[in-house]
Amino acid sequence: MSKNHRKEVDRRRTFGIISHPDAGKTTLTEKLLLFGGAIQMAGAVKARKAARHATSDWMSMEQERGISVTSSVMKFNYNDYEVNLLDTPGHQDFSEDTYRVLTAVDSALMVIDNAKGVETQTRKLMEVCRMRNTPIMTFINKLDREGLEPLDILADIEETLQVECAPLSWPIGMGKRFKGTYNLYRKRLSLFTPGQETRPQDAVVIDDLSDPRLDELLGSQADELREDIELLEGAANPFDPEHYLKGNQTPVFFGSAINNFGVEEMLEAFVEQAPAPRPAQTLTREVSPYEDPFSGFVFKIQANMDPAHRDRIAFLRVCSGTFKRGMKVKHHRIGKDVTLANATIFMAQDRTNVEEAFPGDIIGIHNHGTIKIGDTFSDKEALKFTGIPSFAPEHFRRVRLKNPLKTKQLEKGLKQLAEEGAVQLFRPLINTDYILGAVGVLQFDVIMSRLQTEYGVDALYEGIDYATARWVECDDDKKFEEFEKKNQANLAKDSEGGLAFLASSEWRLGHTIEQWPEIVFHKTREHN
Ligand code: GDP
Repeated sequence: MSKNHRKEVDRRRTFGIISHPDAGKTTLTEKLLLFGGAIQMAGAVKARKAARHATSDWMSMEQERGISVTSSVMKFNYNDYEVNLLDTPGHQDFSEDTYRVLTAVDSALMVIDNAKGVETQTRKLMEVCRMRNTPIMTFINKLDREGLEPLDILADIEETLQVECAPLSWPIGMGKRFKGTYNLYRKRLSLFTPGQETRPQDAVVIDDLSDPRLDELLGSQADELREDIELLEGAANPFDPEHYLKGNQTPVFFGSAINNFGVEEMLEAFVEQAPAPRPAQTLTREVSPYEDPFSGFVFKIQANMDPAHRDRIAFLRVCSGTFKRGMKVKHHRIGKDVTLANATIFMAQDRTNVEEAFPGDIIGIHNHGTIKIGDTFSDKEALKFTGIPSFAPEHFRRVRLKNPLKTKQLEKGLKQLAEEGAVQLFRPLINTDYILGAVGVLQFDVIMSRLQTEYGVDALYEGIDYATARWVECDDDKKFEEFEKKNQANLAKDSEGGLAFLASSEWRLGHTIEQWPEIVFHKTREHN
């Protein structure tokens, strides 16, 4: 490994933002990109969100794709760091993609609305982070508005998400009385002026809180800050980088994204503390980013901008070595060599052809249906990265063909779309139904539209009384047989042959789990 390679790995930060809709993810993303000098892109983030809000029908999504493909990965530089921000769709198009993106990041940023505390979608995304012990930094947003008491928000995070909080900044008042933050990480005071940007260099260095300048600057709120900090020293956890890197502690910043307040303060700490690309697990061994041979895995597949080409882009995260344009790599699942001639790297402003990419970077590979989620590409050794799962669907539909002569096309379409990871396909044990499962409902519209345009299939959906699913397994063959027999009506095979239990409610599922202690019920399933 060359010195340069090590340097390139160490200066990379690949992360995603987790939040509930409206907490301020789009606003924060824009501000982050502005610091990275990616100004054009910032406009596109907003445009994308506007398009999403306008309508959620598939046609407009097609038009919107131009933006959405490029903004799936946003690359920018900050100080000496090269940052890859992976978009985690969190709105109407909330889907498995959102979850899977989190398998390709080294850390995450959690945005919380100070008036709302922890909300449902944040909780779900956090579950995925926990599976991989992803380190999480927290930004508590909208301090320019009245909200919950800062200590109550921290308690909420600790309780609901089971992660220790370590405040690195502390707010001085909120809403109309919001005066700024005291940065505990750097011992600096930043004063808030609504509508005006505050850069970290504008902050006043105050090592000692008894400094009378504090009273001059904050008036009566100086004493409030002193009391708060004293209280924190006794009650809050000190920041421990190791705890953070293990995913047990989240450093917390306060601010207001829309006013660009506290954002750069957090970004500064983020690039310093967040992990560089981490080793990745394969079936055979752990792969270090510092290794010379190239390797990477596909975590997302997205329909391309040009529907006429039916071309899709596979998003590959580089895990080791250096990617060079035109290099020949092995596509292990199908045992073929492919030349990555026209891979795309995702730059902030534009999609440009990649010359070189390093671990932590994401490249886009054009794909005519041969690439599946979870596929590994490498230049020598046969590897198979693990930890890129399917997630238990929460929405279900039965597909009914309008023209029964098209059964073959339907089967082919559903099989391919399921392989691509766009939806999960289940075939019940007791009948020949096609049941689709998805994490977000919008996925169903996408599938119907693609069935029609790409496979010429006219079909419709019927509601079906399932609300949740688990993949099932058992060491004891006899017991498993018994379980299968008794629960036939609720069992189905997924597209890779995995057996799943579909339940009409969480309560039903819980009841079955209780009744069958020998059976293991999995919420996720690895791709073969
Ligand atoms: P997303 O849904 O998480 O991407 O959230 P957005 O970034 O679109 O923000 C949702 C709403 O909150 C928008 O109306 C923003 O203008 C507003 N917002 C974002 N940040 C702040 C903030 O710091 N203070 C206030 N008062 N509003 C904010």
